[in-house]
Amino acid sequence: MKYQAFLIKYGEIGVKGKNRYVFEDALVRQIRRSLSRVEGSFNVTKESGRIYAYALSDYDYDEVVEALTHVFGIIGICPVVVTEDTGFENLAKDVISFLKETHGEKPYTFKVNARRGRKNYPMNSMEINQEMGYQVLTALPYTSVDVHKPDVLLQIEIRNKIYIYSKEIKGLGGMPTGTAGKAMLLLSGGIDSPVAGYMIGKRGVEIEATYFHAPPYTSERAKQKVVDLAKEVAKFTGPIKLNVVNFTEIQLAIYEKCPHDELTIIMRRYMMRIAENLAKKSKCLGLITGESIGQVASQTMHSLNCTNAVCTLPVYRPVIGFDKQDIIDISQNIGTFDTSIEPYEDCCTIFVAKHPVTKPLLHVIENDEHHLDDVIDEMMERALSTVEVIVCE
Ligand code: ATP
Ligand code: MG
Repeated sequence: MKYQAFLIKYGEIGVKGKNRYVFEDALVRQIRRSLSRVEGSFNVTKESGRIYAYALSDYDYDEVVEALTHVFGIIGICPVVVTEDTGFENLAKDVISFLKETHGEKPYTFKVNARRGRKNYPMNSMEINQEMGYQVLTALPYTSVDVHKPDVLLQIEIRNKIYIYSKEIKGLGGMPTGTAGKAMLLLSGGIDSPVAGYMIGKRGVEIEATYFHAPPYTSERAKQKVVDLAKEVAKFTGPIKLNVVNFTEIQLAIYEKCPHDELTIIMRRYMMRIAENLAKKSKCLGLITGESIGQVASQTMHSLNCTNAVCTLPVYRPVIGFDKQDIIDISQNIGTFDTSIEPYEDCCTIFVAKHPVTKPLLHVIENDEHHLDDVIDEMMERALSTVEVIVCE
């Protein structure tokens, strides 16, 4: 079937009152961005409270659907046949061949739902419904009408042109990227943080990311894995600016000077401090992590309390109440799982204590951090001034 356009339906943004156009325009931009990655050219327009993507050239149907199902803010994608108005008889012919092609020549129930966007069409919607229903039943005797629960809801919209469609592919929902400010994702090579970035991104938040790299303890390949993960998340959120921070010196200092059972907590506190510093420079309004209560020693309520204490920006932890399996399910759905499980060492897995504290006390941690006083300011400055920026898209 050759569809000339896709009608794009959006949900929540439809109820945004006076700001509605801001959300619609953002959605149009995101659709254009996403379609610019597929072969063919498209005209994406907003007309009478709807968004259409018109194909201006040949295109691959599956590729376009794949692109549109990665755009936050879309709830439904309807492939549409567009015809000229050359009278009702011709319309009936078009509708019948549309049904034959899209639903096959086998029994099903249907309902016609006509809508007149221009009132000078010679029949009203009710008349179109009845007459078209009759024409279909006559031409396709294996079909029947069911006005309550039809297998096929045949939509006919009469505007300057006529739009015919019957299929709606489910979209992701959420809010269009760029409508909710920006946040800094602490992106490791694990399973959880890419999912966390995706979840906050789904609410329209632009994502920037920071990765803590500890060469030579962590390899170039481990860094590449994080770049690959950022690219996967960027398929949904748009380009992600990834800040790669060289964390080796700070990690070694912590290892040398602080109690080993507190290594992870102290290290996480420095990660948060550095990420927050970069976040503020980039005008981010919050930090995002993939933490989940109780998953590991550094994610008990006590530990989270100690890590959180160094942050002044809000820290968004969208998977905080999720079981690991729930997070894995999402990572499989969004396509990050296979990359996340590649076996490259993360800096945290190298400098871990055998018996980390699970109930750290904030004042004890703060006290022990003073062991770093002589060196840490300079090291923080070096880490911040040697950040490598990689744009992932
Ligand atoms: P994942 O790595 O997928 O997030 P995890 O269970 O390995 O899960 P931790 O290592 O305890 O989690 O880290 C908790 C959170 O801290 C991560 O979700 C991530 O947001 C951040 N984080 C951990 N290590 C790094 C790193 N090397 N670079 C950037 N952020 C990190
Ligand atoms: Mg991790």
